[in-house]
Amino acid sequence: MIAVNKLSFFIEYSYSKQIERFFGQYDIQVISPEKGVRTSEIRYQIPISFDPKENMKEKIEEIMNRLLNLFPIDRIGEAICFEYSNEDYDQAPFFTLYSTGNSVSANIIDNQSEMSTPTFCEACSLKERRLESSFLLDTSKLKNRYMINVDGMFWVVSEKMAELMSEWKITGYYLEEVVHRGKVDEKLPAYQLIINNSLPPFSPNVNYYYFVSEPEERCDVCGVRGKISYPYIYSKSDIENCSDDLYVLNEWNSNGSYVYHPLILSQRFRKLLLEHRITRDVRSLYESTYGPKDWFMEPVFIDNY
Ligand SMILES: [Zn+2]
Repeated sequence: MIAVNKLSFFIEYSYSKQIERFFGQYDIQVISPEKGVRTSEIRYQIPISFDPKENMKEKIEEIMNRLLNLFPIDRIGEAICFEYSNEDYDQAPFFTLYSTGNSVSANIIDNQSEMSTPTFCEACSLKERRLESSFLLDTSKLKNRYMINVDGMFWVVSEKMAELMSEWKITGYYLEEVVHRGKVDEKLPAYQLIINNSLPPFSPNVNYYYFVSEPEERCDVCGVRGKISYPYIYSKSDIENCSDDLYVLNEWNSNGSYVYHPLILSQRFRKLLLEHRITRDVRSLYESTYGPKDWFMEPVFIDNY
């Protein structure tokens, strides 16, 4: 597994040779974009790769500070992704489910249900969301999908998916019927996926990052806001008795406003989804195979990256 931080910024085209030489000092080969017709500014997107054990913060901080001092650059953006080997996918006992489709209709916003929103952290105002009634949804939004994400933290499955999960003897969940709120004749059977168990806490070897470019996002009080988790690591002795197919993460993640526990699938469940062509085998967000109905899952690691 390697971690990649992609730096992006705008600068006048006349600096392109100097930018190339600057990154050459770090053994990073940069190919400058062509000069546009309407503007003399060009945009760089420069991926910088790291071994997962390397100190990303130190190096990114140094590169950014030097860039901002040496060149007329207003701001530098960061984007992090992780690149996995086939072995990482083959050996992982569990996967984090990132999405069930590269499409807005797989990730819908539908906050019709009654929720309470207790404060999770006074310092950064992160909140929890707790369902206080039945789950209400315009179920026609499920269309012909197997599973969708609602409001970034809830998962809803179709009748077909519910049947498959029962047939495959998937364990670690129960379903609650969703109440349809929409046109009566567009109602589809839909169920909220509810998970009984969480995985054990991470191994101490798990790595984190905070964007150097966004210090204001970081909250040291809760340690959740602004934190970029590297792929999850578990100690072998902690996880070897986890035999269910579905779990949630023990730790909290945040979407910037709310905290939630991400959904975890077993290797067995993932294989069944692939065998039955519910999704293609997507191993990167940038693959052409990541289509509107494909599920993107990231492997967890045992003991080390
Ligand atoms: Zn906080």
